[in-house]
Amino acid sequence: MKNIKNYQLEELKQELSNLGEKPYRAEQIFHWIYTEKVKAFDDMTNLSLELREKLKQNYTICNFQILQKQESSDGTKKYLFDVLDGNAIETVLMQYHHGKTICVSSQIGCKMGCKFCASTGIAFIRNLTAGEIVEEILAVEQDIGEPVSNIVFMGIGEPFDNYDNVMKAIRIINHPKGLNIGARHISVSTSGIVPQIYQFANEGLPCTLSISLHATTDEKRSSMMPVNNLYSISELMQACKDYIAKTNKRISFEYALAKDNNDNLEDAKQLVKLLNGMLCHVNLIPINKIENGKYVKSTNENIIHFRDYLNDHGIVATIRRELGSDIDAACGQLRRKNLKQ
Ligand code: SF4
Repeated sequence: MKNIKNYQLEELKQELSNLGEKPYRAEQIFHWIYTEKVKAFDDMTNLSLELREKLKQNYTICNFQILQKQESSDGTKKYLFDVLDGNAIETVLMQYHHGKTICVSSQIGCKMGCKFCASTGIAFIRNLTAGEIVEEILAVEQDIGEPVSNIVFMGIGEPFDNYDNVMKAIRIINHPKGLNIGARHISVSTSGIVPQIYQFANEGLPCTLSISLHATTDEKRSSMMPVNNLYSISELMQACKDYIAKTNKRISFEYALAKDNNDNLEDAKQLVKLLNGMLCHVNLIPINKIENGKYVKSTNENIIHFRDYLNDHGIVATIRRELGSDIDAACGQLRRKNLKQ
């Protein structure tokens, strides 16, 4: 059966007209799902009994169940959801000064194999559908009893390896009759899949684009991120420049600092050279320690020196606040642990 959350409003209008119904019914259904947040067709009380029956025969509403939930003392909540086909995915709720943010997964597993990631070693199973990505948000909102203000595509999976479903999910999240979260409050993070960066520049979606950079030479970046063997740093930078030129939007570069790997002054100097003159921001991330991972977190002193060097040389850099450090904070850790049990 088809998941009704997979449809954008115009697509749902077409579905309804295929069932011999008036298109405005789609708007009513959107209202019930995304504003009233109901979980069953029978709760859509302004639809006729006949239409509710038709909907039940043709569609599911796809409501995730919580398999496990961890809560940190800083307000971070990490969910493991049953996606109803025997698989599980992780979604994280983070509490920032500017509001609540949900970090969604875009795939079950990931093909990219970044060496610092807890998802590495978990086989790629499948892409999440747009409706499943949207359901991650609805399920968290239902658990906490309130809407959130920001969405980041930084959970498990490479969003640009599931491009069409992610774009569709963003449009449902952003639509005034959908979850109505402004595009400026939605961030998409990629490990650097160059063709999709060019494609994303033409989507007309003013979301924030984040690039996981983490190193300034091809040798070092390839050792951390196999995707760099496919798309070199210079190809990546060319795509980023094109994106900025087309959208006039600032790119956020993620740089996870690992002790004695990419955190010395030489790395900072190279980074300044690489990003010189670009409309960008650098987000420095104290690397999450993962089981069997070879990277360890930089010292606080090194992290601060690195940030100060960038800021003193014209590159705006901030250090990301560590959240959820008393739970399985790195993406993939909760799922990985669960798979072993
Ligand atoms: S960091 Fe992201 S892209 Fe890289 S392996 Fe982990 S989930 Fe995949």
